[in-house]
Amino acid sequence: MKLLFTHAQSLQTSEGSATVAADDFLGVQDEKILFVGALPADFTPDRTIDCHGGLLIPGFVNAHTHSPLCLLRGRGEDRCLQDWLSSIVWPFEAKHTYESCYWGTLLNAAESIRCGTTCLNDMYIHSDAVAAALDDCGLRALVTATVTDELLSQEPDRLQEIAALERRYRGHPRLHIGVAPHAVYTCSDETLRRVAQLCGSTGMPVHIHVSETCREVETCAAHTGGKTPLQYLDSFGLVQSQSLLAHCTHLTKEEIRLLADRGACAVHCPRSNLKLGSGIADVRRFLEAGARVALGTDSSASNNNQDVWEELRFAALLQKGVHGDPTLMPIRECLSMAFHAPLASMGFPEGGVLAPGAPADLVLLDTQNAAWLPSANPLADLIYAAPTGSVVLTMVAGRVLYENGTYLSIDMDRLRFAIDRILRQFGL
Ligand SMILES: [Zn+2]
Repeated sequence: MKLLFTHAQSLQTSEGSATVAADDFLGVQDEKILFVGALPADFTPDRTIDCHGGLLIPGFVNAHTHSPLCLLRGRGEDRCLQDWLSSIVWPFEAKHTYESCYWGTLLNAAESIRCGTTCLNDMYIHSDAVAAALDDCGLRALVTATVTDELLSQEPDRLQEIAALERRYRGHPRLHIGVAPHAVYTCSDETLRRVAQLCGSTGMPVHIHVSETCREVETCAAHTGGKTPLQYLDSFGLVQSQSLLAHCTHLTKEEIRLLADRGACAVHCPRSNLKLGSGIADVRRFLEAGARVALGTDSSASNNNQDVWEELRFAALLQKGVHGDPTLMPIRECLSMAFHAPLASMGFPEGGVLAPGAPADLVLLDTQNAAWLPSANPLADLIYAAPTGSVVLTMVAGRVLYENGTYLSIDMDRLRFAIDRILRQFGL
């Protein structure tokens, strides 16, 4: 299948730089971008999409979410993290089945696709259901299976089953499987050691909550002879280039150095941290230290949506406001967080750019609506002005998943029906 986008502006990004090229052609062949810029004379497309001057961008990457938790959106508001987890989330999760996780993931995916996300990093139980739903809807994803002491006591073979799931998806063009030890407060020494062994023997990425709250940091120090969560995880070899560390809200200067030295990816979740009163990660210092920083929404139960675009806006504004310095977080630095910073850790190192040979994961934005005009600076418009409703088309691996308000890989009527049935079964 050959597809040609005409009359497009295109966002060209690389580490620390971003420009917008005007009136481009972009060609897609099968699952990859074939060319950007001039139209090759021998390219005969099966379909041509006239962008009418709209902006093509790489798809947003959501580097931390828990897809099926969208079923809890709007429930358990105004609580602190521990209370929210123990009173609302964990009792709900105890009722989860393969079916509820499948449909919950599909609902989360529908919202993500509508927001221009093409790749996400999920942490949840029933990962076989999560992976099946993400496979069916066509998104790109790292699916990481949650591990806690409690889960291992209920399912002694859980780590072997995660390894088997990884083998099942090995070589899949869009889905990778990883391990998610939930956090240092839900995983013992022994659990972390076993997870580290599994990652060492399979090469699976690690996805974990780190220093989300002050309480987590204090509890960890009390149980480990003064170690912080990041130092403690590092002692197991769990802080490395394939580690995705969600939140990192409370890191010391030494830990920021460690983060950068290990090449791990911190996942900044500004809106979830604000809503749960957890604090504000000092992302400016992470970037100054040369650490990789990505963006995550966290689940829609704590955020309450899957809009990475909003995270991008908050990430930029918060650092300027907190430090009283509007020169911080220049636009070009911010864009890297939204489009390609986590992809190498997730096993998709060639993504996040509009360039020949890159996966055709892209989004077309309508820049003719009033919020984008008069178009003096499309990069600033993208971060500070544009509404999410600007998304016209979302493509992953060369397949159009969403176009002009219509989902092409998800039956929304069937999805709504399934969600209603599941919530009734749950008594919600
Ligand atoms: Zn989380």
